[in-house]
Amino acid sequence: MTTLAGIATARGLVAGPVFLYRGDGEIPVPEYVVESGREEDELRRFERAVAETKRDLESLISVLRERTGRADVRVFECHLMFLEDPTFSSDVRRRVVTDHVNAEAAVKAFTDKMRAQFTRMNDPYFRERVRDFDDVERRLLMALTGFAQDTHMELKVPSIIIADDLTPSETVRLPRENVLGFATNGGSATSHVALLARAMAIPAVTGLVDITSRVKPGMTVILDGSNGAVTINPDKPTMALYEAMQRHRREVEAAASDGAPAGTLRDGGEVKIFANIHPGVPVSGLRELGARGVGLYRSEYLWLNRECEPTEEEQFQAYREAVEQAMKLSPDASITIRALDIGGDKTVKGISARENNPFLGNRSVRYLLSNLDVFKKQLRAILRASAYGKVYTMYPMVSCVEELNEAAVVLAEVKRSLDEEGVAYDRHMPVGAMIEIPSAAINADAIAKRVDFFSIGTNDLIQYTMAADRSNEAVAHLYQPTNPAVLYLMRRAIDAAHRHGIPVSVCGESAADPIVGVLWAAMGIDMLSMSGTYIPVMAKLFRRLSRSDLDEYAALVDGLDTSIPAQEIFDSCRKWMLGKIPDLDDLLM
Ligand code: PEP
Ligand code: MG
Repeated sequence: MTTLAGIATARGLVAGPVFLYRGDGEIPVPEYVVESGREEDELRRFERAVAETKRDLESLISVLRERTGRADVRVFECHLMFLEDPTFSSDVRRRVVTDHVNAEAAVKAFTDKMRAQFTRMNDPYFRERVRDFDDVERRLLMALTGFAQDTHMELKVPSIIIADDLTPSETVRLPRENVLGFATNGGSATSHVALLARAMAIPAVTGLVDITSRVKPGMTVILDGSNGAVTINPDKPTMALYEAMQRHRREVEAAASDGAPAGTLRDGGEVKIFANIHPGVPVSGLRELGARGVGLYRSEYLWLNRECEPTEEEQFQAYREAVEQAMKLSPDASITIRALDIGGDKTVKGISARENNPFLGNRSVRYLLSNLDVFKKQLRAILRASAYGKVYTMYPMVSCVEELNEAAVVLAEVKRSLDEEGVAYDRHMPVGAMIEIPSAAINADAIAKRVDFFSIGTNDLIQYTMAADRSNEAVAHLYQPTNPAVLYLMRRAIDAAHRHGIPVSVCGESAADPIVGVLWAAMGIDMLSMSGTYIPVMAKLFRRLSRSDLDEYAALVDGLDTSIPAQEIFDSCRKWMLGKIPDLDDLLM
């Protein structure tokens, strides 16, 4: 038995068998000489791999057809045609039989040749097809080498996924029903895998450094997402302790709530608690958790995991469904649809350019303003959905007022075209800015004049203030929500919003942190938006506090010496909280 310490990323305690996920990394291509007399064996291996790949593609096509309609499947139909192309099989046969090259190397030689030919073509459509060769090659190599045989497609029993790291696309592809937990070498509490794990209510531990080399498929592990620990091969007493803790957690969860809406304070005051979601997350379950609306709809997930941009109609259908569902959450529900936030660690095939420094690159609202067709299409879809409920929209990664000025011109133009077409929409749809770049927080007064609300994205605000990559475990110690510089920017943004009479919310993961989220509320945040799974616990905490407690908490932090380390500030906050809620740790288990 060994216990590894990592970063507590998504709360929850689970035990189960290991599933080693190798992901979309480079596949090693073995190269060897095929002995005389073994050529036909090698060709049979190749044919089996082609047949297996075709079967995989056919089943993928039928799943996609059911889920999304024709546009998505065309690309995979082309991949099937490639596999059936006699030029391909005869080229591989020649290399194996005449040159004595093994099947993997022969496949790679052919796809390299095709890639080179297509790269030279003038027509951008054909140049783009190079990626199709990459994709088919990858599938064939996987079938030949068995490299990724135990990937998500094969995840047949409920398991704990152990991986080096997972991209957002890989995470959403995993069958939820069989994922008990995530444990990764890389990542951090605010990487996108972490956000998804929380949105899907899956416990996760990240930053485990080399867990992938310490486990084998099928081994039992206990994953404690609340404390950031993974125990490999637990012995009997540890397993018994785990079971006792599970029972205790169920008892705490079942402890009667008094039925007050989530976010109600002890004295009847309120802090609005909304949910963060992305397309594909059923909104209906959020009602039970207590969400009063949707404070962040991450629209970019409509773009991930697909080969082409979603059409206006597809976007409209997705937004409209989310809007209609969100309206059922409470009488004062609204939904904030965030405009496409790609870039950084959210890369989209075919859209994201290769950049040396994508976190500081042409991302989010910058991308939209330099790709007006994409921006207009999305605004049209959002506006059309606004006819079905209270919709807000906001721009991610705003860094200066020029961006808001430009976006306002585009929005006005889109509204005009909808007017001309007689399409219904909410003319007064509130438009907000995400405050997640330090320049926006510093210049919050000027930004506040141009928008209807602020939503503070602390995941990025902390990352950019501290220059500490939110997904890099090596700098996780610098990712400090209570650093005086972060607190200063939070205070600046909150006060500017209030001076200009606009509401301000936090939609970063820190909203769900029992110490930090409550601090934001104390500092004057009007709404906290978080992964649904965290709402019940946060609601319990607020029910134990009054507005005057929150004022006291804010005064304590505002009065702290700003030259002290972040951890000391955090410790003071925790001490204050334990003074008010002595059984805090029990509630959080
Ligand atoms: C944030 O940065 O806090 C945020 C909510 O946006 P995302 O996590 O999607 O970057
Ligand atoms: Mg962000």
